[in-house]
Amino acid sequence: MADLVQHYLDRIRAEQIELRDGTLASYIPELADVDPEGFGLSLSSSDGYVYESGDTAVEFTIQSISKPFTYALALSQIGQDAVDARIGVEPSGEAFNEISVDDVTKTPKNAMINAGAIAAVSLIPGASPDERFDRILAFYSACAGRRLDIDMDVYLSEKETGNRNRAIAYMLTSFGVLDGDPDDVLDVYFRQCSVKVTSTDLARMAATLARGGLNPLTGRRVVDAGVVRRTLSVMVTCGMYDATGDWVSAVGMPAKSGVGGGIVAVLPGQLGIGVYSPRLDSRGNSVRGVQVCRSLSAQLGLHFLTVGRESSSTLRAVFDVSPGIRVYEVQGDLLFAGAEQVLRTAEHERGEYDVAVLDVTRVDDINDAARGMLTGMRASLTAAGKEAYLVDPDGRVVPADRRDDYDAIVFRTLDEAVDAARQSGIG
Ligand code: GLU
Repeated sequence: MADLVQHYLDRIRAEQIELRDGTLASYIPELADVDPEGFGLSLSSSDGYVYESGDTAVEFTIQSISKPFTYALALSQIGQDAVDARIGVEPSGEAFNEISVDDVTKTPKNAMINAGAIAAVSLIPGASPDERFDRILAFYSACAGRRLDIDMDVYLSEKETGNRNRAIAYMLTSFGVLDGDPDDVLDVYFRQCSVKVTSTDLARMAATLARGGLNPLTGRRVVDAGVVRRTLSVMVTCGMYDATGDWVSAVGMPAKSGVGGGIVAVLPGQLGIGVYSPRLDSRGNSVRGVQVCRSLSAQLGLHFLTVGRESSSTLRAVFDVSPGIRVYEVQGDLLFAGAEQVLRTAEHERGEYDVAVLDVTRVDDINDAARGMLTGMRASLTAAGKEAYLVDPDGRVVPADRRDDYDAIVFRTLDEAVDAARQSGIG
């Protein structure tokens, strides 16, 4: 498969593996006892192909990463107006567990802090805590594409020690934000924080949001696109505790972290990322997780405010000009996710041709990550005994001053490339 992307992930993870700053969450023994070295990185393309590096099968508790998903479920179950009447969408500028509401509206400032998250739980329909939680768990599972479960020990500890959350729930009841018994709502909140996931589950959940609510693995629509847009908006402005501004500037992806050591990050339309490493910084974010996301964003050009022209699907056409010569015609603005798709398709099909001709004549713009991947594609194909030619009249992939290095394989037109392949005895 697309080995090049795998190498990128392995390298980015290896760059941070010596980083041992930060401390494990210690408010309950179960979190204080995990292996501090655990470190997994997963990336799902928006069509559901997952790359994994490191401890991607280690389960940990989702904790606050549950918040955007329950918020999305509340939006889809009772509608945006009813949710907005109880939970705001403004950054709070306070600690995530602050016992406070908005001065004017007397509702929690947003759904990414505990007050808003507890309110979101109360908005999920259900005649009993069990029914409400079953709905939440089924929703998380549908986003992950597998049946998730809870860590009973973490749940019982959360429940036993959760006095601050109890204070928040009772305050919300006094302001008329919570209906019903606050302890019932809290019970479901403690359970949702205790759901076990892996970094790959998070990548798949992120990819479901990246696809506007369609799980790319199962092909099932889990939630509608308007709900996803609202959820991602709140993740952008409030997702990373008090470090949200720094995160948005440096990483530029809607994200949420949890004190279990996970981070979920979404690049809309393109991909989903899940990271696990349990040592946390002073703000409660995974130290290595933040660094990995910063590197991924910088090295692969993932910042969502990178200005690009509107691009349609990357692979415009794939066809054989004669036996053994397959042409991959690429179009639009080529960024990491588009190049990954081209590379994966060409590598996946490599048993079916001798020469792959990559035609980038219709590419408008390309970034360094995509350029590196397309030049690297040749190395991986030649290693497999194949040849890769490039049709690049405007020097988008191989600039004019480097053309000499690639003389025999870069052409101005498709015909020239096909002639060269034929002269070497193929086709
Ligand atoms: N169970 C924790 C709480 O509600 C979650 C904390 C977090 O991940 O931010 O306090």
